[in-house]
Amino acid sequence: MNREHKRCLIIGSGPAGYTAAIYASRANLAPLLYEGLQPGGQLTTTTEVENFPGYPEGITGPELMADLRKQAERFGAEIRTGIAVKADLSKAPYLVTFDDGHEVEADTIIISTGATAKYLGLEDEQKYAGMGVSACATCDGFFYRNKVVAVVGGGDTACEEALYLASLAKHVYMIVRKNYLRASEIMQERVRNAKNITILFEHNTLGLFGENGVEGAHLVKRKGEPDEELVDIAIDGFFLAIGHSPNSSLFSKYLECDEVGYIITKGHSPSTNLPGVFAAGDVADPHYRQAVTAAASGCKAAIEAERYLGANNL
Ligand code: NDP
Repeated sequence: MNREHKRCLIIGSGPAGYTAAIYASRANLAPLLYEGLQPGGQLTTTTEVENFPGYPEGITGPELMADLRKQAERFGAEIRTGIAVKADLSKAPYLVTFDDGHEVEADTIIISTGATAKYLGLEDEQKYAGMGVSACATCDGFFYRNKVVAVVGGGDTACEEALYLASLAKHVYMIVRKNYLRASEIMQERVRNAKNITILFEHNTLGLFGENGVEGAHLVKRKGEPDEELVDIAIDGFFLAIGHSPNSSLFSKYLECDEVGYIITKGHSPSTNLPGVFAAGDVADPHYRQAVTAAASGCKAAIEAERYLGANNL
């Protein structure tokens, strides 16, 4: 095992990680950034990004991430590919082991490992990926203006996504497996008041169909009950909103996390309960989950890392 010491280790390569790398390298922290399984993060799975400031004509997710990466490299950030497999945060300097055979001892760590949207696990979700299946209404809703879409889920995210889509689409179905919504009362009320949202309670999705993209979904109503019924709906887009899993499990033994696993940060700062350990982007953000907010928190994390190193003469 190859052990080395770094002043600033950044784990994760979404907008939070790359932005942290840009700021940390410009502050002479000589950061080392590890890209994991999906270099560029969730944005590389979207097509057009039209809401990142500075791109009036929009930009594709992969291009945006390639630009951020280039910008980080321009200022000297070292970028490697590898997955963090072990972390010992019991004392500083902190030790993280990667599957490329490196053990990195770091004075500061910026955790920006992101979150993964949950999918139902249907083969058709893969088949129609980027062709009508999405897990982000804010990213992709715009392409469904005046079309018909479905949102799966009955929590706050599903309601929020359904309401957002209802402002663009002709009609929105919510596919809810129980006979009630789990969302907060205020969100439920907003959904109920929306004229173009139909809630399909006690429905589960069996599959999707369509020639060159999603044209509809096969559903089952009251699955397993005597009055079980198969229902097809015609839709152009199928949105998953059944929750996200923050990629924090490696660190949750040491860091305060909420009940879902999101790393808890202090107030508006990316500081965690451990000095010198910061969390940026979706791994610490169940609420906004936007590229621009992730980038902003990566910037804050790098500034905090710089201050911490300075204050401790590291
Ligand atoms: P939740 O876990 O609250 O809700 C997930 C929803 O998806 C539930 O309705 C659940 O159904 C459904 N679901 C899960 N798995 C499946 C499946 N395999 N098939 C069909 N349906 C499924 O996740 P959210 O992302 O909605 O919310 C996460 C947290 O973030 C919550 O605490 C929420 O309050 C918060 N949040 C707050 C917002 C706000 O305040 N504006 C906005 C967004 C999120 P079931 O109920 O049957 O389990």
